[in-house]
Parts: sequence; C-alpha cells; structure tokens
Amino acid sequence: MPDLTDKAAQAYSSAYQSAIDMVVSRYPALARLPSNEAAALLGDIDFEALFRGGYGMDAALEKLSVSFATQVIVVPPPPVTPSAETLATVLKFEVETASKQISQTAAEIKKIMMQSVLGHQSEAEFAAALNTGTLRPDQINSYVNQNLRSFHRTVESQMAEANPQELYIWDGPLDDRTSDECAQMIAEGALTYDEWTANYSAYLNSGTHYGCRHTLAAFVQAVQLENTKKAREAEGVDY
Ligand SMILES: [Zn+2]
Repeated sequence: MPDLTDKAAQAYSSAYQSAIDMVVSRYPALARLPSNEAAALLGDIDFEALFRGGYGMDAALEKLSVSFATQVIVVPPPPVTPSAETLATVLKFEVETASKQISQTAAEIKKIMMQSVLGHQSEAEFAAALNTGTLRPDQINSYVNQNLRSFHRTVESQMAEANPQELYIWDGPLDDRTSDECAQMIAEGALTYDEWTANYSAYLNSGTHYGCRHTLAAFVQAVQLENTKKAREAEGVDY
C-alpha cells in the first residue's frame, strides 16, 4: 500500500519523467539543423532555467519541499521539542541537496544533448544516452523516497532524544516487504528511547536497510500496538 511518502516520491519522479520527455521531444528539431548551428544554439540556451522553469522542475521541488516540511510535524507534539533551528537546518539541507541535483541533472542533459547533436544521433539514440547518463525516473523515485524517510526518522529521533523517558514504538507497515530486523523491532512494542538506543542505536536514524519505511514514533494509545501483536504472533515468541 503506497503511503504519503511513496506518493510524494512518485509525484516528484513523474514530474522529472515529464521534464525528460519534454527534452527528448525537442531534440529532433535541434538535430535537423546543421550541427554547428545546433551546437551554437544549444550552447546559448540557459538549459537549467528551462529545465527548472519551462519543464516544471522548480514546481516539483516546491512540492517536494512541502513533503519534507510535513515530516517535521510530529503528532502528538512531545513535551520537549528540539530547537526549531536544528530542524530548520536539517530541512534546508534536504531541500538544497535536491535543488543541487536538479542543477547537476540539467548540466548533464545539456552535455549529452550536445554530444548527441554533434554525433548526428537519432532521437532514440539520444533518449538512450540520457537513460544511461542521468538518473532514471525510477532511481529518482527510490532516492527521494529514501531521503524523505531518513529525514522523517531523523526528526523523530531528535524528538525522542529530547524526551528519552517517554515510550516509543518502531512505527510502520508490517507486510511482506518488512525486513526481519524491523519485524523484530515492531515486536518489541513500546520502549523508552534509552531502551531503544541500548539495543538498536544503529537503526534509529538510518533504518535497518536502504528503503526502510520505519521510524520511531511516540506511543500514545494501545491501538498502535496492533502490529506488535501480529509481529509477536508471527515470531511465536512470548514477551
Ligand atoms: Zn523498516
């Protein structure tokens, strides 16, 4: 079941796919020109501005920033909140990193386009070169998903660190994609932050593996332990 993070990553990679499609669709017109003319024309284009503005990557980044920002909202708010400054700094870092990636991709695309024009390549050859030379939409999707989730874990860990005596669960789905480590952590149920760090400190910020969908979350009501019950039953372990 796709959750909000999956949807945000999907929306961003779809926008990226559209931008790439746009680039590819403009290629034939450029390739039809004599290569010196095409190269001069391409050289003059502010490709990054086009990629960001005309092809929608800035709007996509804006939406992605909102998705990052919503991960900062922890419900319910803990008694002690880490400084807003710390959270703002981490948030800014994430958004700037994503923005830098847009700049890099725009530069890569322009370089590949120039090589393709000078090499008299067909539209299909150009598309294939883009596919190997830049991040593919599915890679962007998994990269963004991973960043959103690891950012969310960082925020939750900061909150827990500031309130170590409160109870937390390892929150997230329990399904056929759940790793053994996460299932075991879910089975632990509600522990204090100190108990979590004693046994699982390596996982609290980075997750148990790339693409991990789990994070610490404040334990406030019994219904949150439903997955715990299921995980314990599956393990056949009495706690
Ligand atoms: Zn996990």
